Amino acid sequence: MESKDLLYVGGEWARPSTTATIDIISPWTEEVLATVPEAGEADVDAAVAAAREALAGPYPRLTADERAEYIAKLSQGIGARAQEFAETITAENGSPAGWSLLGQVFSATMILDGYANLIRSFPFEEPRAGALGPVLVRKEPVGVSAGIVPWNVPLFEIACKLGPALAAGSPIVIKPSPETAADWYLLAEIIDQIELPKGMVSFLPAGREIGEYLVRHRGVDKVTFTGSTAAGRKVAAICGEQLKRVTLELGGKSAAIILDDADLGAHLPLLMPSALMNNGQACVAQTRILAPRARYDEVVDAVADAVRNTSVGGDPTDPTVAVGPLVAERQRDRVMGYIDKGRTEGAKLVVGGGRPADLPKGWFVEPTLFVDVDNKMTIAQEEIFGPVLAVIPYDDQDDAVRIANDSDYGLSGSVWTTDVERGIDVARQVRTGTYGVNAMATMDIHQPFGGFKASGLGREFGPEGLTAFLETKTIVLPGDYHPPDPTLPL
Ligand code: NAD
Repeated sequence: MESKDLLYVGGEWARPSTTATIDIISPWTEEVLATVPEAGEADVDAAVAAAREALAGPYPRLTADERAEYIAKLSQGIGARAQEFAETITAENGSPAGWSLLGQVFSATMILDGYANLIRSFPFEEPRAGALGPVLVRKEPVGVSAGIVPWNVPLFEIACKLGPALAAGSPIVIKPSPETAADWYLLAEIIDQIELPKGMVSFLPAGREIGEYLVRHRGVDKVTFTGSTAAGRKVAAICGEQLKRVTLELGGKSAAIILDDADLGAHLPLLMPSALMNNGQACVAQTRILAPRARYDEVVDAVADAVRNTSVGGDPTDPTVAVGPLVAERQRDRVMGYIDKGRTEGAKLVVGGGRPADLPKGWFVEPTLFVDVDNKMTIAQEEIFGPVLAVIPYDDQDDAVRIANDSDYGLSGSVWTTDVERGIDVARQVRTGTYGVNAMATMDIHQPFGGFKASGLGREFGPEGLTAFLETKTIVLPGDYHPPDPTLPL
């Protein structure tokens, strides 16, 4: 990985305003791989000014098909360099190689393709019959957006912000996390190649202070934030004060309900990868496994076997490694702190619980399983963001739903059953933004995704994700108005 000395401000490679830098550190060798500039306040000012100019420029006035063309080219550009993106992301945050390619890179291209396809037929301007006469309902770009993304799925998250912003015609200033401040350089190169109009996109890697400066900036009309619930609350408070539009994608503590009729042989191989996804650093990870008392020992044994057999490797670029290192020493210490808490609060540790003995270097934590967990325990209530699972016993289906809902979070969840109708019945009762019935993927990246309760505000993906970047305007027309095109339904 090469060190860099420029930022990407309004479509131009620009010298940073300060001498501050960010070290990109390998999570498994602990070595500094590269150094990149850290953006300062003046860089934010310049990026927002360029975005405001772009808002008045040609891009927001392009037809939806022309905007879709740019987004499709961006997606193709990422696809053409998929391996390079995946290797860069694995180097930055330790994601297993296979996951990087599918979960980080190809999923990002699918998100972009979804928005490109959506806007080709989206009603940006719709004639309607109003109460007193004809009206025209228009969807216009929300203005200048700020996109703040976490380190766990950096390119995927950038696509979640960039896709709808470009689809809507909203210029965007993106702030990558300091932990993953390298992969966006590849994306900026592609943005240059496709000759996206200047000012539409900026990338300013920095920490939370600059993130907050960007959120507060008076030139920003909308904030789209993905990260922890604690930071999301702060962002929401600032946006509330300033009446800025805001979308928040926050933490989760999702419950996988194994019903008493589940086929463990068929269902656990689907559930376990989504429980330990991305080294346990996934917002939708199914970290609470709810097991029926009638089959409790059988479920515990099967889950314990699966966790025990999950391959941990010192080098996440090795395709056989299922669980690699955590992103940073701070994250490893945080996860170890939760493991200690689980022990002291009386949960039974049956697998893992420490650092792998054969991996003295790097920020590894063994895949860990607690059983006999009470849902009131800290490890069942707080998001750990590491490879730590909790099995919680339940009495009957209603009790399982009650436990699943006994959480501040409401992001995702799943149910495992041989009776899909019964599964859908459970899905209807659990208060989360997405839900899977015997489904490995507990989200669909072309359909609305987001959180109930403390897991967020608003939705990404699909028409809901697009409208979060649009303002609605109603134009009241004279009663005797007849459109030039009489086939329109006025
Ligand atoms: P974090 O909240 O520490 O940081 C996220 C981003 O916000 C970073 O870029 C950070 O620099 C910035 N930031 C932090 N405080 C800020 C503030 N006060 N103002 C402006 N910007 C600020 O989270 P993280 O540790 O990077 O990511 C992990 C969290 O992200 C987990 O809670 C995870 O569940 C969540 N997440 C949610 C989703 C989702 O779609 N719901 C997806 C991925 C990750």
